[in-house]
Amino acid sequence: MASAEEWVYSKMNKYPKSLESLIESFQHLPGVGKKTAERFALYTLFNMTDTDVEDFSNILASIKKDIHICPSCGNICEDEYCSICSNPKRDHSSILVVEGIKDLIAIENTSQYDGIYHVINGAINFSKGITIDDLNIDSLIEKVKKGNVKEIILATNQTLEGETTARYIKELLRDFNVKVTRLASGLPVGGDISYADEMTVVKAFEGRREY
Ligand SMILES: [Zn+2]
Repeated sequence: MASAEEWVYSKMNKYPKSLESLIESFQHLPGVGKKTAERFALYTLFNMTDTDVEDFSNILASIKKDIHICPSCGNICEDEYCSICSNPKRDHSSILVVEGIKDLIAIENTSQYDGIYHVINGAINFSKGITIDDLNIDSLIEKVKKGNVKEIILATNQTLEGETTARYIKELLRDFNVKVTRLASGLPVGGDISYADEMTVVKAFEGRREY
């Protein structure tokens, strides 16, 4: 027996099924609630041209297929290796360690760094059960083991998690002949690198210290 609320809901006017599905799909996006999803769906239906919708759906369909993770650094790319790893003009002896791809892009946009990156894909967070084993760190150590790396710049966020992660990595690198530095000055404590403005990142680079 349906409850009174369920009965009322079942009698309410709803959108056609396909539009309801589109609303539900938009709701999968972060920060998009029912009302915004409804607005997006109605906009798609009434304001986008057939070509716009077709292009959009083609891009959506291909993105998971065409983009993969660079096996060397964890960046995203369409070719076998990312454009940074495969660029011989970059300094492959300097590796900048970031938590996520957004941080890599933020630093890359400053044009202040000509080394390569390593995306560890998160940070240690004991309350969420995320340990060093869940991060992309083994391949970083492998790279250092090969002996061509001179400097590892730890650019994890200035948060408890980012700091803990930086300490762990430093510990793992203790026995290798590699300089370990940390981006620090200028970046706000508790801050996310990807939100820092360009000048702040530039200053953080200049002020990086031995860790
Ligand atoms: Zn790469």
